[in-house]
Amino acid sequence: MVDILITVYFPDSYSMETTIQQDTSQRIVPWSDFLTNSPPAVEMGIRDALGSIRQPDTAPLLVPHIKLYCSVCEGKRNFESTDQIQLNDGLRRLFMTYSCRDCGTMTHTFALIIRWKQGSPLITALKIGQWPAFGPPPPSILKSLLGQYYELFTKGLQAESHGIGFAAFTYYSRIVELLKDQLFVLASKVSQKTAAPPELTRNLLTAKREKTFGRAVEVLGDAFPEHLRLQGKYNPFQLLRQILINGENIQPDGAYLKLAQDLRAVLAAFAAQVKQYIGEDKEFAAAVEHLDATSK
Ligand SMILES: [Zn+2]
Repeated sequence: MVDILITVYFPDSYSMETTIQQDTSQRIVPWSDFLTNSPPAVEMGIRDALGSIRQPDTAPLLVPHIKLYCSVCEGKRNFESTDQIQLNDGLRRLFMTYSCRDCGTMTHTFALIIRWKQGSPLITALKIGQWPAFGPPPPSILKSLLGQYYELFTKGLQAESHGIGFAAFTYYSRIVELLKDQLFVLASKVSQKTAAPPELTRNLLTAKREKTFGRAVEVLGDAFPEHLRLQGKYNPFQLLRQILINGENIQPDGAYLKLAQDLRAVLAAFAAQVKQYIGEDKEFAAAVEHLDATSK
């Protein structure tokens, strides 16, 4: 995967060199901010990346502690690097590896192009790529719900973080279709647990047999477990259906990005509501696993 990213983002070295030489007035950000928050292929100037220069022709590159998402600890953690990197006058391509200070197992790797001009306190840096890919971490609340589609979902997140709205929307809307049965069965379970009219539980299970998510929501109509309404009033299935319909019309990429973000947010909010009633992770995961097995 790193290879793929590098192929995609590796700019033509001649033009890269030219831009760096010409443009020293670009945005200046703190070094740790650059590592944490800058997406690939965006060039930044940095003033606080160098340690004290002892020999005029080499400059030590600092490796500050940074906060990144750790998939082992399942949250933001402090990461540190033991890399020792010396810059020489000119352009340098390099890797930096960071490890989680808590678990010691999770690592983040950055592939960078850095330019330093002898005597300057400033460097210019650009990420060619990073692994795990740049982007928001998958909301942990969705992990059990997504099951085998977790990887697919993270691709949607990557597209979203690079502002590729159409791709993100396509990933997420496909996932909604793939999760159709799970979504309806989970809603029916909550309906049962919260003593909603038995008819509603039955209707949810009947509707799920429809071929598409949109059609299933249409068949179900307005009835929905009250406890699963978002902010106490919005039916999440109707919201998802509406977003899918809006996405069917050709839109500018920015509009798809918004639709993708909405789709992800509604899905996460639904999962959070369900968890309140289906209880602990294990029970929730068991319900989804059971579904996986029975829906085949
Ligand atoms: Zn960790």
